[in-house]
Formats: sequence, C-alpha cells, structure tokens
Amino acid sequence: RAKKEGRGRWTVFDPQRTAMAVSQYAMSVRMPMALDRGEFFIDYQPLCALADGSLTAVEALVRWRHPELGVLGPDEFVATAEETGLIVPLGRWVLERACEQAAHWVERFGTAAPRLNVNLAVRQARHPALVSDVGRVLRESGLDPGRLLLEITETAVIGPDDHALQALHALVDLGVSLAVDDFGTGWSNLSYLRDLPVSELKIAGAFICDLHGASGPDAVGWRIVGGLVSLAHTLGLTVTAEGVETASDAARLRAMGCDTAQGWYYGRPAPPQEISRRIADGLRGPAAG
Ligand code: C2E
Ligand code: MG
Ligand code: MG
Ligand code: MG
Repeated sequence: RAKKEGRGRWTVFDPQRTAMAVSQYAMSVRMPMALDRGEFFIDYQPLCALADGSLTAVEALVRWRHPELGVLGPDEFVATAEETGLIVPLGRWVLERACEQAAHWVERFGTAAPRLNVNLAVRQARHPALVSDVGRVLRESGLDPGRLLLEITETAVIGPDDHALQALHALVDLGVSLAVDDFGTGWSNLSYLRDLPVSELKIAGAFICDLHGASGPDAVGWRIVGGLVSLAHTLGLTVTAEGVETASDAARLRAMGCDTAQGWYYGRPAPPQEISRRIADGLRGPAAG
C-alpha cells in the first residue's frame, strides 16, 4: 500500500488511476480491431405509450463483448471512442445494424413494428459525412426515414451559427426525426430549442430515478418534471421520460400528460429476438395473454 498523508499527496503512482489509464489506452488500441471482429452488439430497449403501455419505439444501445473483460456497457467505452474518433465508424455501424433490424421488424410485423431510436455522439453530429451516411443507410436498409429518430444530447447542442445545425435540418428534410436526449441535466441556454429542428424531448433518467422515495404530490423534483412536460408540450414537442422503474412513476407521469416512458418498468434493454417476441405478443393482444 502507498504511504498515507504527507508523501501521498505527491504520489504520482496511484495504482488504481494507472490501471484505469492503461485500460483506457488498451481499450482505445483494441477498439478498431473489435469492430472488425464483430465484438460489438446492440440491445434494444422498449419505449411505451404511457396511455396504454403499447410498444411505440425501441432505442438501440451498443455493448462490447470484450474477450477478457466481459460485456462492457457504453458508459465504459463511448467516451474513449469519442476521444479517439472511433465513435464515427462505431456509430455508423450501430446505425447500419439497427436500421437493418428495424427494417426486418417492419417486414415481419408491418405497422406493429416499433420505430427506431439511435444515439448520435457529438463527433458524429459534427461529422461532414453525417447526412450522406444516414441517407445511404436508409436506402440500403430500406427503412422508411419516418421510422428513424436520432437522439442528440443537450451537452452536444450546437449553437445557431454552427454548420452542424444545417446538417440537422438536412436530416429532417430526409424525413428523419430528432430528439434531445438527457434533457434537464445540462445547464444549457434553452434558446437552442428555438433553433433545433427537434420533435421530441427525453427527460433524463437520472432525473426520474432521483425521485424514488420523494413522497407527496408536491415534491419539488416531480414539479420540475411536470414543468418540463409542460414546456415540451407548449413547444409542440413529444416528451419521453427515461428511467421509469416503478408503476407509481408511470402513474405519476401519465397524470402529468407525459407521452412516452422508457425504463425497467417497461423493459430492460434486450436482444432483438426478445423484442420480436414482445411485438408478436402485442399483436396477439392482451386478452390472449
Ligand atoms: P441514454 O441514451 O440516456 O440511454 C439510456 C440509458 O439508461 C441506458 O444505459 C439504459 O440501459 C439505462 N436505463 C434504461 N432504463 C433504466 C431504468 O429504469 N433505470 C436505470 N437506472 N437505468 C435505465 P446504457 O445502455 O448503459 O447506455 C448509456 C449511454 O450510452 C446512453 O444513455 C447513451 O448516451 C450512450 N449510448 C448507448 N449506445 C450508444 C451508441 O450507439 N452511440 C452513442 N454515441 N452513444 C450510445
Ligand atoms: Mg439515448
Ligand atoms: Mg437518455
Ligand atoms: Mg444517458
């Protein structure tokens, strides 16, 4: 163990930090190979209408089956991928794979197929080939652009003179929808909502999760969520709440007029076969069990 106090302050060798740095480095070196070797895969998490619980969309969430470290979640590697730039080919791969899957669901289930949400990293949103990439993926997969929604984070939000804003407008011209992800966590100037061609706000999961245990209809946190729902509707936007873990969360959000919910209460991220089963069950109807 390292010496305590005194010398500790000057320690340059912190085993834990070094291990982190090494693994970040090892990760960044291995990642391009991992993409070629097919080590990434996608789970899909349901988004459900609060009114009747029906499946309206799924969000594609990337995972990495690392040969030594096991399955890694995006919080463990997306930041590194952003730094190294690998997020661009990785994000393109996620978009291709997820659009193929969504097109397959349309082929198999028709209008009962869920729409598709895909996350867009900051670097992807600013990449000059974004619009042509999305256009090509839509053509190749045959997915109706109206069935694709791209999620951009509030922190990625883009000033009005930014050329990336033009790209977002071009995506909307293609027929694709846009949402602000993790809404309410940033401290950004809300005037960006005037300039961005978004059609949906997703209230950050952390926001809703923090409300567990908050009791009483006037808990401040819930009033803020209510305010965000009203703000979205005032602007003519649809609103989704993330991190919905309990029936009482769902009931409260429904009472507030929130449109859509995503969270463990409605389903964990799952492999595509499990989503297929769920769509099929939905088609048989709740009465059939
Ligand atoms: P996100 O877009 O906000 O996705 C929702 C995250 O919340 C997912 O974490 C999901 O598993 C988690 N979650 C869902 N329901 C609940 C719940 O009821 N309770 C709690 N506590 N958590 C819930 P995940 O899969 O670890 O993804 C983390 C983040 O990584 C995502 O946050 C997204 O920003 C990013 N990400 C995932 N896939 C991609 C991708 O393909 N490209 C990019 N650029 N980012 C991605
Ligand atoms: Mg998201
Ligand atoms: Mg989110
Ligand atoms: Mg998030």
